[in-house]
Amino acid sequence: MNTSGRHFLQIPGPTNVPDRILRALQQPTIDHRGPDFKGLCRELLDGLKEVFKTRNPVIIFPASGTGAWESALVNTLSPGDRVLMFETGHFGTLWKQLAEKLGLQVDWIPGNWREGVNPEKVEELLNADHEKQIRAVCVVHNETATGVTSDISSIRKAVDRTDHPALFMVDTISSLASMDYRHDEWKVDVTVAGSQKGLMLPPGLSFNAVSDKALEASEKAQLPRAYWNWQEMLNANGQSVFPYTPATNLLYGLKEALILLKEEGLDQVFARHRQLAEATRKAVQGWNLEMNALHSHEFSDSLTAVRMPEGHDADQFRKVVLENFNVSLGNGLGKIQGKVFRIGHLGDFNAPMLLGTLGAIEMGLELAGVPFKPEGVRAAMDELVKN
Ligand code: PLP
Repeated sequence: MNTSGRHFLQIPGPTNVPDRILRALQQPTIDHRGPDFKGLCRELLDGLKEVFKTRNPVIIFPASGTGAWESALVNTLSPGDRVLMFETGHFGTLWKQLAEKLGLQVDWIPGNWREGVNPEKVEELLNADHEKQIRAVCVVHNETATGVTSDISSIRKAVDRTDHPALFMVDTISSLASMDYRHDEWKVDVTVAGSQKGLMLPPGLSFNAVSDKALEASEKAQLPRAYWNWQEMLNANGQSVFPYTPATNLLYGLKEALILLKEEGLDQVFARHRQLAEATRKAVQGWNLEMNALHSHEFSDSLTAVRMPEGHDADQFRKVVLENFNVSLGNGLGKIQGKVFRIGHLGDFNAPMLLGTLGAIEMGLELAGVPFKPEGVRAAMDELVKN
Protein backbone atom coordinates (compact mmCIF):
# COMPACT_ATOMS: atom_id res chain seq x y z
CA MET A 1 0.00 0.00 0.00
CA ASN A 2 1.29 3.45 -0.94
CA THR A 3 1.28 5.67 2.14
CA SER A 4 3.38 8.59 0.93
CA GLY A 5 1.69 11.99 0.83
CA ARG A 6 -1.29 12.84 2.99
CA HIS A 7 -3.96 10.28 3.72
CA PHE A 8 -7.32 11.45 2.35
CA LEU A 9 -9.87 11.04 5.13
CA GLN A 10 -13.01 11.36 3.03
CA ILE A 11 -15.42 9.63 5.37
CA PRO A 12 -18.30 11.85 6.51
CA GLY A 13 -16.63 12.47 9.84
CA PRO A 14 -14.32 12.56 11.59
CA THR A 15 -13.09 15.03 9.00
CA ASN A 16 -9.63 16.35 8.13
CA VAL A 17 -8.32 18.52 10.97
CA PRO A 18 -6.71 21.74 9.65
CA ASP A 19 -3.07 22.37 10.60
CA ARG A 20 -4.02 25.47 12.58
CA ILE A 21 -6.31 23.36 14.78
CA LEU A 22 -3.68 20.63 15.14
CA ARG A 23 -1.22 23.26 16.37
CA ALA A 24 -3.77 24.69 18.77
CA LEU A 25 -4.40 21.23 20.23
CA GLN A 26 -0.76 20.70 21.13
CA GLN A 27 -0.45 23.64 23.52
CA PRO A 28 0.34 22.72 27.12
CA THR A 29 -2.70 21.85 29.21
CA ILE A 30 -3.53 24.54 31.78
CA ASP A 31 -5.21 24.61 35.20
CA HIS A 32 -8.91 24.32 34.43
CA ARG A 33 -9.70 26.24 37.61
CA GLY A 34 -7.18 29.01 36.96
CA PRO A 35 -7.68 32.49 35.47
CA ASP A 36 -6.56 31.67 31.92
CA PHE A 37 -9.12 28.88 31.61
CA LYS A 38 -11.96 31.21 32.58
CA GLY A 39 -11.15 33.49 29.66
CA LEU A 40 -11.10 30.54 27.26
CA CYS A 41 -14.37 29.17 28.64
CA ARG A 42 -16.19 32.50 28.28
CA GLU A 43 -14.94 33.00 24.75
CA LEU A 44 -16.08 29.54 23.66
CA LEU A 45 -19.51 29.70 25.27
CA ASP A 46 -20.13 33.05 23.53
CA GLY A 47 -18.55 32.04 20.21
CA LEU A 48 -20.57 28.83 19.92
CA LYS A 49 -23.82 30.78 20.02
CA GLU A 50 -22.99 32.32 16.65
CA VAL A 51 -22.51 28.90 15.06
CA PHE A 52 -25.80 27.53 16.44
CA LYS A 53 -27.50 30.90 15.77
CA THR A 54 -28.84 31.14 19.28
CA ARG A 55 -28.87 33.61 22.15
CA ASN A 56 -29.38 30.80 24.64
CA PRO A 57 -26.70 28.66 26.30
CA VAL A 58 -24.79 25.99 24.43
CA ILE A 59 -23.59 23.17 26.67
CA ILE A 60 -20.27 21.47 25.90
CA PHE A 61 -19.71 17.85 26.91
CA PRO A 62 -16.45 15.91 26.77
CA ALA A 63 -18.22 13.10 24.92
CA SER A 64 -18.98 11.81 21.45
CA GLY A 65 -22.27 12.73 19.82
CA THR A 66 -24.06 9.79 21.44
CA GLY A 67 -23.57 11.47 24.83
CA ALA A 68 -25.28 14.63 23.57
CA TRP A 69 -28.18 12.51 22.26
CA GLU A 70 -28.59 10.99 25.73
CA SER A 71 -28.26 14.34 27.45
CA ALA A 72 -31.00 15.87 25.28
CA LEU A 73 -33.42 13.13 26.33
CA VAL A 74 -32.57 12.67 30.03
CA ASN A 75 -32.71 16.37 30.78
CA THR A 76 -36.15 16.96 29.32
CA LEU A 77 -38.20 13.76 29.60
CA SER A 78 -39.62 11.32 32.16
CA PRO A 79 -39.87 7.51 32.14
CA GLY A 80 -42.62 6.29 29.80
CA ASP A 81 -42.89 9.61 27.93
CA ARG A 82 -43.87 9.27 24.28
CA VAL A 83 -41.44 10.59 21.68
CA LEU A 84 -41.86 10.75 17.91
CA MET A 85 -38.85 9.48 15.97
CA PHE A 86 -38.20 8.72 12.31
CA GLU A 87 -36.32 5.96 10.55
CA THR A 88 -34.30 8.21 8.28
CA GLY A 89 -31.35 5.80 8.47
CA HIS A 90 -28.75 4.30 10.79
CA PHE A 91 -28.44 7.34 13.07
CA GLY A 92 -32.16 7.89 13.42
CA THR A 93 -32.33 4.21 14.39
CA LEU A 94 -29.51 4.46 16.96
CA TRP A 95 -31.13 7.50 18.59
CA LYS A 96 -34.40 5.55 18.83
CA GLN A 97 -32.63 2.56 20.40
CA LEU A 98 -31.03 4.85 22.95
CA ALA A 99 -34.43 6.39 23.79
CA GLU A 100 -35.89 2.92 24.34
CA LYS A 101 -33.00 1.92 26.61
CA LEU A 102 -33.80 5.00 28.69
CA GLY A 103 -37.39 3.81 29.15
CA LEU A 104 -39.07 6.17 26.70
CA GLN A 105 -41.94 5.02 24.52
CA VAL A 106 -41.05 5.67 20.91
CA ASP A 107 -43.61 6.28 18.18
CA TRP A 108 -41.39 4.99 15.38
CA ILE A 109 -42.16 6.08 11.85
CA PRO A 110 -40.59 3.62 9.41
CA GLY A 111 -38.63 4.89 6.43
CA ASN A 112 -36.80 3.63 3.34
CA TRP A 113 -33.33 5.15 4.17
CA ARG A 114 -33.54 7.29 1.01
CA GLU A 115 -35.87 10.10 2.05
CA GLY A 116 -36.04 12.68 4.83
CA VAL A 117 -38.78 13.42 7.32
CA ASN A 118 -41.97 14.56 5.61
CA PRO A 119 -43.30 17.71 7.35
CA GLU A 120 -46.87 16.84 6.38
CA LYS A 121 -46.51 13.48 8.09
CA VAL A 122 -45.31 15.23 11.25
CA GLU A 123 -48.36 17.50 11.10
CA GLU A 124 -50.69 14.54 10.60
CA LEU A 125 -49.17 12.59 13.50
CA LEU A 126 -49.31 15.50 15.92
CA ASN A 127 -52.88 16.35 14.90
CA ALA A 128 -53.84 12.74 15.61
CA ASP A 129 -52.44 13.02 19.15
CA HIS A 130 -55.61 14.52 20.64
CA GLU A 131 -54.47 13.98 24.23
CA LYS A 132 -51.17 15.76 23.49
CA GLN A 133 -49.20 12.88 24.93
CA ILE A 134 -46.23 13.14 22.59
CA ARG A 135 -43.56 14.96 24.55
CA ALA A 136 -40.91 15.39 21.88
CA VAL A 137 -40.36 15.25 18.13
CA CYS A 138 -36.79 14.14 17.35
CA VAL A 139 -35.30 14.59 13.88
CA VAL A 140 -31.83 14.00 12.42
CA HIS A 141 -31.12 17.03 10.23
CA ASN A 142 -28.56 15.27 8.05
CA GLU A 143 -28.64 11.45 8.01
CA THR A 144 -24.95 10.68 7.75
CA ALA A 145 -25.71 7.10 6.75
CA THR A 146 -27.81 8.01 3.71
CA GLY A 147 -26.79 11.48 2.52
CA VAL A 148 -30.33 12.76 3.03
CA THR A 149 -31.31 15.98 4.80
CA SER A 150 -34.63 16.80 6.40
CA ASP A 151 -36.05 20.31 6.10
CA ILE A 152 -35.98 21.53 9.70
CA SER A 153 -37.60 24.90 8.96
CA SER A 154 -40.59 23.20 7.25
CA ILE A 155 -40.91 20.63 10.02
CA ARG A 156 -40.98 23.48 12.56
CA LYS A 157 -43.76 25.18 10.59
CA ALA A 158 -45.67 21.90 10.48
CA VAL A 159 -45.39 21.53 14.27
CA ASP A 160 -46.55 25.13 14.71
CA ARG A 161 -49.63 24.55 12.55
CA THR A 162 -50.77 21.87 14.97
CA ASP A 163 -50.34 23.98 18.11
CA HIS A 164 -48.88 20.87 19.73
CA PRO A 165 -46.69 21.52 22.79
CA ALA A 166 -44.10 18.78 22.04
CA LEU A 167 -40.45 19.69 22.33
CA PHE A 168 -38.52 19.76 19.05
CA MET A 169 -35.07 18.13 19.13
CA VAL A 170 -32.69 18.11 16.19
CA ASP A 171 -29.47 16.17 15.65
CA THR A 172 -27.07 18.39 13.66
CA ILE A 173 -24.01 16.19 14.15
CA SER A 174 -23.19 16.14 10.43
CA SER A 175 -24.80 19.44 9.41
CA LEU A 176 -23.67 22.08 11.91
CA ALA A 177 -21.11 24.45 10.36
CA SER A 178 -21.60 22.78 6.96
CA MET A 179 -25.19 23.65 6.16
CA ASP A 180 -27.47 26.49 7.19
CA TYR A 181 -28.89 25.86 10.65
CA ARG A 182 -30.82 28.26 12.92
CA HIS A 183 -31.54 27.07 16.46
CA ASP A 184 -33.52 30.15 17.57
CA GLU A 185 -35.30 31.04 14.34
CA TRP A 186 -36.49 27.47 13.84
CA LYS A 187 -37.50 27.27 17.52
CA VAL A 188 -35.56 24.11 18.15
CA ASP A 189 -35.63 23.14 21.82
CA VAL A 190 -32.52 20.97 21.90
CA THR A 191 -29.89 20.92 19.17
CA VAL A 192 -27.45 18.02 19.37
CA ALA A 193 -24.03 18.46 17.76
CA GLY A 194 -20.52 17.00 17.73
CA SER A 195 -16.97 18.24 17.21
CA GLN A 196 -15.70 15.88 14.54
CA LYS A 197 -17.48 17.02 11.38
CA GLY A 198 -18.21 20.61 10.30
CA LEU A 199 -16.31 21.97 13.29
CA MET A 200 -13.15 20.26 11.94
CA LEU A 201 -12.03 18.99 15.35
CA PRO A 202 -11.08 15.49 16.41
CA PRO A 203 -13.90 13.46 18.00
CA GLY A 204 -14.47 14.00 21.70
CA LEU A 205 -16.69 17.04 22.19
CA SER A 206 -20.44 17.25 21.80
CA PHE A 207 -23.03 19.92 22.37
CA ASN A 208 -26.59 20.69 23.42
CA ALA A 209 -27.99 24.08 22.45
CA VAL A 210 -31.12 24.60 24.55
CA SER A 211 -34.24 26.77 24.44
CA ASP A 212 -36.04 28.34 27.40
CA LYS A 213 -38.78 25.75 26.90
CA ALA A 214 -36.23 22.93 27.14
CA LEU A 215 -34.79 24.45 30.31
CA GLU A 216 -38.29 24.65 31.80
CA ALA A 217 -38.91 21.02 30.86
CA SER A 218 -35.64 20.07 32.55
CA GLU A 219 -37.00 21.29 35.90
CA LYS A 220 -39.82 18.72 35.77
CA ALA A 221 -38.11 15.88 33.90
CA GLN A 222 -37.81 12.67 35.91
CA LEU A 223 -35.34 10.54 33.94
CA PRO A 224 -32.27 9.90 36.08
CA ARG A 225 -29.34 12.11 35.13
CA ALA A 226 -26.04 12.77 36.83
CA TYR A 227 -23.10 13.39 34.51
CA TRP A 228 -25.42 14.87 31.87
CA ASN A 229 -27.23 17.27 34.19
CA TRP A 230 -27.62 20.58 32.34
CA GLN A 231 -28.24 22.61 35.48
CA GLU A 232 -24.96 21.66 37.12
CA MET A 233 -23.17 22.49 33.88
CA LEU A 234 -24.95 25.84 33.48
CA ASN A 235 -24.22 26.79 37.10
CA ALA A 236 -20.53 26.04 36.61
CA ASN A 237 -20.44 27.70 33.18
CA GLY A 238 -21.90 30.82 34.81
CA GLN A 239 -18.58 30.99 36.72
CA SER A 240 -16.66 30.22 33.48
CA VAL A 241 -15.68 26.74 34.68
CA PHE A 242 -16.88 23.17 34.20
CA PRO A 243 -18.35 20.96 36.95
CA TYR A 244 -15.64 18.38 36.17
CA THR A 245 -12.33 18.23 34.34
CA PRO A 246 -12.96 19.61 30.85
CA ALA A 247 -11.27 18.36 27.67
CA THR A 248 -8.94 21.34 27.81
CA ASN A 249 -6.92 20.65 24.67
CA LEU A 250 -10.00 19.98 22.57
CA LEU A 251 -11.27 23.33 23.81
CA TYR A 252 -8.10 24.98 22.47
CA GLY A 253 -8.95 23.36 19.15
CA LEU A 254 -12.54 24.59 19.38
CA LYS A 255 -11.31 28.13 19.92
CA GLU A 256 -9.28 27.90 16.71
CA ALA A 257 -12.20 26.30 14.83
CA LEU A 258 -14.46 29.20 15.78
CA ILE A 259 -11.79 31.65 14.54
CA LEU A 260 -11.48 29.75 11.23
CA LEU A 261 -15.26 29.74 10.73
CA LYS A 262 -15.45 33.44 11.50
CA GLU A 263 -12.62 34.27 9.12
CA GLU A 264 -14.32 32.46 6.25
CA GLY A 265 -17.82 33.53 7.30
CA LEU A 266 -20.60 31.00 7.89
CA ASP A 267 -22.43 31.90 4.67
CA GLN A 268 -19.27 31.28 2.65
CA VAL A 269 -18.69 28.01 4.54
CA PHE A 270 -22.18 26.88 3.50
CA ALA A 271 -21.67 28.06 -0.10
CA ARG A 272 -18.36 26.16 -0.31
CA HIS A 273 -20.01 22.99 0.95
CA ARG A 274 -22.86 23.46 -1.53
CA GLN A 275 -20.46 23.85 -4.46
CA LEU A 276 -18.31 20.83 -3.52
CA ALA A 277 -21.45 18.75 -2.96
CA GLU A 278 -22.91 19.81 -6.30
CA ALA A 279 -19.66 18.87 -8.06
CA THR A 280 -19.72 15.48 -6.32
CA ARG A 281 -23.27 14.87 -7.48
CA LYS A 282 -22.27 15.79 -11.04
CA ALA A 283 -19.46 13.21 -10.76
CA VAL A 284 -21.90 10.50 -9.65
CA GLN A 285 -24.07 11.33 -12.68
CA GLY A 286 -20.99 11.32 -14.89
CA TRP A 287 -20.12 7.81 -13.66
CA ASN A 288 -23.70 6.77 -14.39
CA LEU A 289 -24.04 5.54 -10.81
CA GLU A 290 -27.07 6.06 -8.57
CA MET A 291 -27.33 8.47 -5.65
CA ASN A 292 -28.84 6.95 -2.52
CA ALA A 293 -30.87 10.11 -1.83
CA LEU A 294 -34.02 10.07 -3.93
CA HIS A 295 -34.98 13.75 -4.04
CA SER A 296 -32.77 16.64 -5.11
CA HIS A 297 -34.22 19.00 -2.47
CA GLU A 298 -32.99 16.55 0.20
CA PHE A 299 -29.45 16.04 -1.14
CA SER A 300 -26.89 16.50 1.62
CA ASP A 301 -24.16 19.10 1.21
CA SER A 302 -21.85 17.34 3.66
CA LEU A 303 -21.76 13.86 2.15
CA THR A 304 -22.93 11.87 -0.85
CA ALA A 305 -23.97 8.23 -0.51
CA VAL A 306 -23.59 6.30 -3.77
CA ARG A 307 -25.34 3.00 -4.47
CA MET A 308 -23.23 0.19 -5.90
CA PRO A 309 -24.50 -1.54 -9.06
CA GLU A 310 -26.16 -4.90 -8.34
CA GLY A 311 -23.64 -7.69 -7.76
CA HIS A 312 -20.81 -5.38 -6.62
CA ASP A 313 -19.77 -4.99 -3.00
CA ALA A 314 -19.20 -1.43 -1.76
CA ASP A 315 -16.75 -2.54 0.95
CA GLN A 316 -14.63 -4.45 -1.54
CA PHE A 317 -14.54 -1.34 -3.72
CA ARG A 318 -13.57 0.88 -0.76
CA LYS A 319 -10.75 -1.54 0.03
CA VAL A 320 -9.40 -1.15 -3.52
CA VAL A 321 -9.50 2.65 -3.19
CA LEU A 322 -7.77 2.58 0.21
CA GLU A 323 -5.06 0.12 -0.76
CA ASN A 324 -4.23 1.73 -4.09
CA PHE A 325 -4.70 5.42 -3.38
CA ASN A 326 -4.64 5.86 0.42
CA VAL A 327 -8.13 7.37 0.38
CA SER A 328 -10.70 6.39 3.04
CA LEU A 329 -14.34 6.46 1.94
CA GLY A 330 -17.32 5.93 4.25
CA ASN A 331 -18.93 2.50 4.42
CA GLY A 332 -22.59 1.60 4.18
CA LEU A 333 -24.05 1.35 7.69
CA GLY A 334 -26.73 -0.95 9.08
CA LYS A 335 -29.27 -2.05 6.50
CA ILE A 336 -27.24 -0.69 3.56
CA GLN A 337 -23.87 -2.17 4.49
CA GLY A 338 -22.04 -3.27 1.34
CA LYS A 339 -24.64 -1.59 -0.85
CA VAL A 340 -23.50 2.00 -0.51
CA PHE A 341 -20.25 3.93 -0.20
CA ARG A 342 -20.13 7.46 1.13
CA ILE A 343 -18.02 10.40 0.07
CA GLY A 344 -17.47 12.93 2.86
CA HIS A 345 -17.12 16.46 1.47
CA LEU A 346 -17.40 18.48 4.64
CA GLY A 347 -15.14 20.39 6.96
CA ASP A 348 -11.68 21.57 5.92
CA PHE A 349 -12.03 20.70 2.24
CA ASN A 350 -11.50 22.34 -1.14
CA ALA A 351 -11.76 21.69 -4.89
CA PRO A 352 -8.33 20.05 -5.41
CA MET A 353 -8.97 17.73 -2.44
CA LEU A 354 -12.35 16.85 -3.94
CA LEU A 355 -10.82 16.16 -7.35
CA GLY A 356 -8.17 13.93 -5.74
CA THR A 357 -10.93 12.01 -4.00
CA LEU A 358 -13.09 11.72 -7.12
CA GLY A 359 -10.05 10.73 -9.21
CA ALA A 360 -9.24 7.95 -6.75
CA ILE A 361 -12.87 6.77 -6.90
CA GLU A 362 -12.89 6.81 -10.70
CA MET A 363 -9.65 4.78 -10.84
CA GLY A 364 -10.96 2.49 -8.10
CA LEU A 365 -14.15 1.77 -10.05
CA GLU A 366 -12.01 0.67 -12.97
CA LEU A 367 -9.68 -1.48 -10.85
CA ALA A 368 -12.60 -3.09 -9.03
CA GLY A 369 -14.34 -3.93 -12.30
CA VAL A 370 -17.45 -1.93 -11.48
CA PRO A 371 -19.43 -0.88 -14.57
CA PHE A 372 -19.25 2.92 -14.91
CA LYS A 373 -18.68 5.74 -17.39
CA PRO A 374 -15.27 7.47 -16.93
CA GLU A 375 -16.83 10.93 -17.02
CA GLY A 376 -17.22 11.79 -13.34
CA VAL A 377 -14.09 13.84 -12.69
CA ARG A 378 -14.62 15.83 -15.89
CA ALA A 379 -18.22 16.61 -14.88
CA ALA A 380 -17.08 17.71 -11.39
CA MET A 381 -14.42 20.00 -12.88
CA ASP A 382 -16.99 21.59 -15.18
CA GLU A 383 -19.16 22.28 -12.14
CA LEU A 384 -16.26 23.70 -10.12
CA VAL A 385 -15.32 26.30 -12.73
CA LYS A 386 -18.89 27.57 -12.96
CA ASN A 387 -19.23 30.75 -10.88
N1 PLP B 1 -25.85 11.40 14.76
C1 PLP B 1 -25.30 11.53 13.53
C2 PLP B 1 -26.09 12.22 12.46
C3 PLP B 1 -24.03 11.04 13.30
O1 PLP B 1 -23.47 11.17 12.08
C4 PLP B 1 -23.32 10.39 14.35
C5 PLP B 1 -21.99 9.84 14.13
O2 PLP B 1 -21.46 9.83 13.04
C6 PLP B 1 -23.94 10.27 15.59
C7 PLP B 1 -25.21 10.79 15.76
C8 PLP B 1 -23.28 9.57 16.74
O3 PLP B 1 -22.19 10.34 17.14
P1 PLP B 1 -20.90 9.67 17.82
O4 PLP B 1 -20.46 8.56 16.93
O5 PLP B 1 -19.93 10.84 17.86
O6 PLP B 1 -21.30 9.22 19.16
